[in-house]
Amino acid sequence: MEHTFDVAVVGGGIAGYTAALTAKNLLLDYLWLGASAFGEKLACAEKVTNFPAVSGKGTDFLAALEAQREREGIALTPCRIDGVYAAGGKFFLTAGQKSFEAKTVILATGVETKGALKGERDFLGRGVSYCAVCDGALYKGKRIAAVVSSPAFEEEVHYLARFADMVYAFCLYEHSNLCGENIEVRREFPLAVEGTSRVERIVTKEGAYPVEGVFLLKNSAPPKALVGGLQTEGAHVKVARDLSTNLAGLFAAGDVTGRPYQYAKAAGEGCVAAHSAKAYLDRLGK
Ligand SMILES: Cc1cc2nc3c(=O)[nH]c(=O)nc-3n(C[C@H](O)[C@H](O)[C@H](O)COP(=O)(O)OP(=O)(O)OC[C@H]3O[C@@H](n4cnc5c(N)ncnc54)[C@H](O)[C@@H]3O)c2cc1C
Repeated sequence: MEHTFDVAVVGGGIAGYTAALTAKNLLLDYLWLGASAFGEKLACAEKVTNFPAVSGKGTDFLAALEAQREREGIALTPCRIDGVYAAGGKFFLTAGQKSFEAKTVILATGVETKGALKGERDFLGRGVSYCAVCDGALYKGKRIAAVVSSPAFEEEVHYLARFADMVYAFCLYEHSNLCGENIEVRREFPLAVEGTSRVERIVTKEGAYPVEGVFLLKNSAPPKALVGGLQTEGAHVKVARDLSTNLAGLFAAGDVTGRPYQYAKAAGEGCVAAHSAKAYLDRLGK
């Protein structure tokens, strides 16, 4: 039988880390899931001056966090969660073939600040997908596009190519290692997803490619694509002051709950969400 954690924290950024650290201090049986520890943004920050006791390059901040993480023994389980489902009073989280169970979930998946396409949200579930492993098989023998935000997603493109007749790969980075008989790497910047009832084409400045599916392979998928029935306000999860959502037992923290997009807010919310998850478990006597 699968182990059921008290809390599963999804997202390796500072909100997720602080939630995991707080959960540990509250003696909760926690699981911290994420693509990478501390996320991709810290290393890019030129200078961080607005976080208590920090004044220096993002990489220095990252090194200090990494040292603390090691001291505290907070382990990240590296994976990309592709679905969160509630059933029978607990949550099931899937990552390709892997699955995890938890009584509560803290969603700390951040926001994708670049690369949103026109029409992306309109065609979600009607040809637009964020997960190759979840939906790839639906496109057997079909022509599809993949908008690939970083080399980390090239494996997913190869996975898609096992099913699709043709994959147009729009790589948003310099050097791509993608190759395959039915993979065509395009050096064009996608602008829009278009169609009528379903996706029919992806449009770039140079032209349009007729496709039946568009896979947007990027770090943070919209929370609605991850958790069915989750109430959102635009790109953000709708939360109460205790960071609870409309789904009992599911909390959200950090950029995913809205602006300002700042480390201090993300860390603060990670802490509050872990306390709220504990209070929820205590209330239910779980
Ligand atoms: C260049 C740059 C400079 C910045 N400088 C500053 C600054 O100086 N001061 C400041 O206060 N803020 C700054 N920010 C903003 C700051 O980075 C964010 O507010 C902060 O990172 C938010 O933390 P978070 O944990 O909510 O989200 P993120 O840091 O975005 O972390 C979310 C993590 O979750 C992962 N994830 C998403 N979906 C999934 C999934 N399905 N499964 C597993 N993992 C998933 C992502 O890969 C990511 O690692 C800067 C941002 C950028 C881009």
